[in-house]
Amino acid sequence: MSRSAHPAGPRHADVYPEGHYTAPAADLNVLDEKVWARTVRRDEDGVVTVGGIEVSRLAEEFGTPAYFLDESDFRARCRAWADAFGPDADVFYAGKAFLSRAVVRWLKEEGLNLDVCSGGELTTALDAGMPAERIAFHGNNKSVEEIERAVRLGVGRIVLDSFQEIVRVAHIAQSQGKRQRVQIRVTVGVEAHTHEFIATAHEDQKFGIALADGQAAEAVRRALRLDGLELIGIHSHIGSQIFDMAGFEVSARRVVQLLTEVRDEHGVELPEIDLGGGLGIAYTSEDDPREPHEIAKALTEIVGRECEAAGLRTPRISVEPGRAIVGPTAFTLYEVGTIKPLEGLRTYVSVDGGMSDNIRTALYDAEYSVALVSRASDAEPMLVRVVGKHCESGDIVVRDAFLPADLAPGDLIAVPATGAYCRSMASNYNHSLRPPVVAVNDGEARVIVRRETEEDLLRLDVG
Ligand SMILES: *Cc1c(COP(=O)(O)O)cnc(C)c1O
Repeated sequence: MSRSAHPAGPRHADVYPEGHYTAPAADLNVLDEKVWARTVRRDEDGVVTVGGIEVSRLAEEFGTPAYFLDESDFRARCRAWADAFGPDADVFYAGKAFLSRAVVRWLKEEGLNLDVCSGGELTTALDAGMPAERIAFHGNNKSVEEIERAVRLGVGRIVLDSFQEIVRVAHIAQSQGKRQRVQIRVTVGVEAHTHEFIATAHEDQKFGIALADGQAAEAVRRALRLDGLELIGIHSHIGSQIFDMAGFEVSARRVVQLLTEVRDEHGVELPEIDLGGGLGIAYTSEDDPREPHEIAKALTEIVGRECEAAGLRTPRISVEPGRAIVGPTAFTLYEVGTIKPLEGLRTYVSVDGGMSDNIRTALYDAEYSVALVSRASDAEPMLVRVVGKHCESGDIVVRDAFLPADLAPGDLIAVPATGAYCRSMASNYNHSLRPPVVAVNDGEARVIVRRETEEDLLRLDVG
């Protein structure tokens, strides 16, 4: 493609159409370490590697689209969280971000616990050897079958999400002659957005039981009366992709306030609080996420201070990062198929995947970055929209980004920070085949979730 096909000129951002993007990086060949998995590098010859393996070789061996996950990065992030919180706290990885048997084994080896929110996640966790007592079961509408199984298998805690569930879990536990350890999930009236939060009195959402109007206090009253339940604490999860610690502080303060009320009314000091997940990661160079040790320090201090003021023993804290552990560890590799320059607008770059392997852009307007990884290029930057091959005009992978203007069909481009909520939300839309997840570690690559085949599709179709 000749540069004259873009009279707007990439250096004159004022003539570009509206969009959320900043000026192109000075050198598009530079891979910003903030958004790429730890072992991703581009060497002097322009060759990009992960875990010491050339990305072009990975494409040849495993095909595209595919997710490549840096195992050493995943393990390092697990350790960073565990070390930051120390022995007096518990880190639960939120399995919904991405779960597979290999991931469960890594978590187990690195000393983390695991959150599940369905029978399928529970089965995967147990199959890969996670001890039941290190599993927490979440969800706003767990089925009776799921609860029966979780109680029978001895999961460490069930997080109760409604008045019905308090009774349901109590009955099931009692009928099995057990006392199930539970937490009550409360909504604290904090709306967390990426870069700010709003403290409200009420929350209009399906999860949890509101602190407002004494609902949560009533839930505690009921749970304490039921023989089938051992109420160990209060749970709060305020949102996702959060950078502002202030929302967590408000949440922690309100949860400790409830613990104080429970102590005053029942003479019981609940021994645990769970402050949920939701910590943000860098999807683009503009994002500046907090490190686990900063988060641990902030949360531990605020809980300690509030408890001291209330004369409470400091409860054991748990947290549930999903995205912050797995998100940055993987990228999606695509092959460019077609390139369509729209005069004066932008250039559409179509790849061999799309909303079936990354729904987040369509679903929440998520922002991503993208880089040419099969070679280096000194061409001028061009404004692109990376789109998939699905039959939807909203099938966008990266809304606004810059790629070199000499991009051509057959080039490989990679979208970083796709470890969380991409494979786990992947679909078969257009009967596409969900891509594999390939773990890369120290010069070795192995498939941990294989690519779907047309046979897999037909196997389900029994009509
Ligand atoms: C989704 C979820 C998490 C994890 O959220 P991240 O944004 O991935 O950290 C943790 N706890 C609960 C209860 C959740 O629903």
